[in-house]
Amino acid sequence: MPQPRRPKKRTEPVDYGWVISFGCKTAGKLRRLKVDTDPAADTRPIDVPCVCGEVHRVTVSPYRRRRSADEPFDLEVTSLDELR
Ligand SMILES: [Zn+2]
Repeated sequence: MPQPRRPKKRTEPVDYGWVISFGCKTAGKLRRLKVDTDPAADTRPIDVPCVCGEVHRVTVSPYRRRRSADEPFDLEVTSLDELR
């Protein structure tokens, strides 16, 4: 008798994008930029149009991290190339 096959459980992680934190000197706050695509490929600095109305130059750390499902963010882009 062949063993009954266990149904394969596919637990693919849901993609919530990536988070890059940056300091907003104007407001003295740490803000979060959400990126849909993995920003690791290119770590050139980006110019972030912040919610405070100014543009901040942000260094992209290769130590980026995944965004969790309910993590809030201040800005959102598809790719960091939009900010270069
Ligand atoms: Zn700002």
